[in-house]
Amino acid sequence: MLLEKERKALVRYGRQMVESGLVKGTGGNLSAFDRKKGLFAITPSGIGYDQLRPEDCVVMDLEGNVVEGERKPSSEKDMHRLLYIEREDIDAVVHTHSTYCTVLGTLREGLPASSYLIAFAGPDVRCAPYASYGTEALARNAVSAMEGRSAVILANHGLTAGGRTLDEAYSLAEIIEECAKVYIIAKQTGTPVILPEEEMNDMIRRFQGEYGQK
Ligand SMILES: [Zn+2]
Repeated sequence: MLLEKERKALVRYGRQMVESGLVKGTGGNLSAFDRKKGLFAITPSGIGYDQLRPEDCVVMDLEGNVVEGERKPSSEKDMHRLLYIEREDIDAVVHTHSTYCTVLGTLREGLPASSYLIAFAGPDVRCAPYASYGTEALARNAVSAMEGRSAVILANHGLTAGGRTLDEAYSLAEIIEECAKVYIIAKQTGTPVILPEEEMNDMIRRFQGEYGQK
C-alpha cells in the first residue's frame, strides 16, 4: 500500500479532529505529502472519521490523478494539491470547519495579531474570497490568501492550515481556532488590542528558531 505511514496518520488525526471538536460528522479533510515520491494521501469523501481506515484514504499525484485507492477523494483535493505545488514549506494540510474560524469567515474577516500565538501562522491570518466548496476557484483563492502564512480562513466555510508535518498542521488549526475564539469574545466585550507588526515579526523569528520551522 502506497504511503501507508501517511494514511495511518490521517486516520489518527481525523479522529482527533472530531474528538477535539474542530469538525463534526464527515466535515473537513486532511492530507500528507511525500515530496520525494510526488504523491499525497488524502482522506476520502463522505466517510465518517470513526469508520475511516487507512485503505479508505486515497493516494494522488500533483496532476490530480488517483494513483491508489478505491474511494472518491475529498472534494477539496485541489486545495491540498495546489498547496503542495505552490508551497515548498508545506507537506501536510488540515482543513476544518471549526466554529470560531467559520464565524470570522462568515463576517468575511481575517484574524489579526490579537495573540502572539498567531505568529505560528504568520503576521495574521487572512480571509480568502468566497468560492463554492470543492472548486478550483476556492483552491486558488485559498493558496493566494495564504501567501506568506501557513493558515487561511475561507469565507463562509472554515479554516485551512499547513505545516511540514501533520502534527504541525493539526496543532496550527487548533491554535488558530483558539485564537479566533478569544478574539471574537474580546470583540463582544470591548475593543481588542492588536499587536504591532514589529512584535509579531519578532515572535515569528523566535518561533522559527525555537521550533525549527522555516
Ligand atoms: Zn470544507
